[in-house]
Amino acid sequence: MKSSRIPGFYNKTVDERREILQSLHNLSEDEMDVLVSEQSLPLEIADKMIENVVGSYSLPLGLGLNFLINGKDYVIPMAIEEASVVASASYMAKIIRDAGGFKTESTGRVMIGQIQVIGCQDFQLAKKTLLEHKEQLIEACNTAYPSIVKRGGGAQDMDVRILNESSKSKYEKMLIVHMYIDTRDAMGANMINTMLEALAPTVEELTDGKVYLRILSNYADRCLAKATCVIPPQLLASEGFSGEEVRDGIVHAYEFAASDPYRAVTHNKGIMNGIDPVVIATGNDWRAVEAGAHAYAARFGKYSSMTTWSVDDDGNLVGELELPMAIGTVGGATRVHPMAKLALRILGTESAEELAQVIVAVGLAQNLGALKALVTDGIQKGHMALHSRSVAVAAGATGEMIDMIAQQMIEEKQIRVGRAKELVGQYKK
Ligand code: NDP
Repeated sequence: MKSSRIPGFYNKTVDERREILQSLHNLSEDEMDVLVSEQSLPLEIADKMIENVVGSYSLPLGLGLNFLINGKDYVIPMAIEEASVVASASYMAKIIRDAGGFKTESTGRVMIGQIQVIGCQDFQLAKKTLLEHKEQLIEACNTAYPSIVKRGGGAQDMDVRILNESSKSKYEKMLIVHMYIDTRDAMGANMINTMLEALAPTVEELTDGKVYLRILSNYADRCLAKATCVIPPQLLASEGFSGEEVRDGIVHAYEFAASDPYRAVTHNKGIMNGIDPVVIATGNDWRAVEAGAHAYAARFGKYSSMTTWSVDDDGNLVGELELPMAIGTVGGATRVHPMAKLALRILGTESAEELAQVIVAVGLAQNLGALKALVTDGIQKGHMALHSRSVAVAAGATGEMIDMIAQQMIEEKQIRVGRAKELVGQYKK
């Protein structure tokens, strides 16, 4: 792909942006149709995806630009309703690009399946017996889903834990089998659940217990993706603020989130502002990603910042984001929803592992954008200016009126629906 640095993209019309995108990726007319058609999800597909369908629900799809990750350029499709997220991600990606780009890595694609066993006569003996049959259980798991083994994945390892061992309550005491399964390019929920259900009778036999739950864990802490960036302070300078001031402000803001859950939740919401739109655009399960990400943010026993920001020996700002990233480039809606297929095509990621790394890079950029705004002008200046058009629409503005009213509200520093309604009334007179 050519460079994802496209100056002035923001100021183009939607049609001009589409033309640029088409030439950037050599998109076919059929692919462009998905983008241009007002109904990007045909009803007959929607009706097969979930139950009781009466329609489909659209979100704006924007492009995150300027992303340079491990030396490769990415244009990032982002589906989101909130103004300023795409602009902020693109702006921060440009700063990071000028600093050499993001570096990313991942731990691989190992997901966890859990089997809950209750009522064993002797839990320690049951655990020992299961561990003695580890290889047989791994093999049984793989026999239940041979195609993933052919793809180079499948069950790899197993663990057994006893929970609430000293409890007197029959409900609390239980044995949990963890199967570690490489799901390759799939998120793997259905695959894992199929494997676990096939394994359950053997587990019951070996433990003399009763199996209840057989389900993947969304705490995918063996399927981690990490992004880092190193930014010289001069790239952070903005009107009225030196680069060093902005850098130090960002580290102070990080320490606040690291120490206080009330701040950490908001800090992390800002990170998910970048992550969810890519997860959604690519047809992935954003509830799974959200659940895993927040659990990982509490892995040391206290809910804390998902990112870390520090200053290195050369005075550079160093940012890092590591999260579980249970996403796929196959399976689920990724190859069913036409827009998700197109989003994956635009991203040009060749594997789930690569997509996971791109997603955390966007999360890191988004966090930088929020922190940089918060420690300089405050979040409202940029955010509300971009939000002003939505406010105008909410007040009933149409056509040319939208930009005119939005601009007037920005100049008046009164970006409110009430004010927009007054202006709509004046324009309509
Ligand atoms: P699918 O059930 O669609 O399975 C993906 C399938 O894709 C694989 O089983 C495999 O089948 C095929 N495939 C093709 N190429 C590859 C490849 N390169 N690597 C891996 N598999 C490949 O999806 P998932 O199992 O990923 O499940 C995801 C869905 O499950 C999501 O929709 C999610 O919302 C949902 N879900 C989530 C839960 C949770 O998060 N707790 C619980 C239950 C469901 P084959 O080898 O036969 O071709």
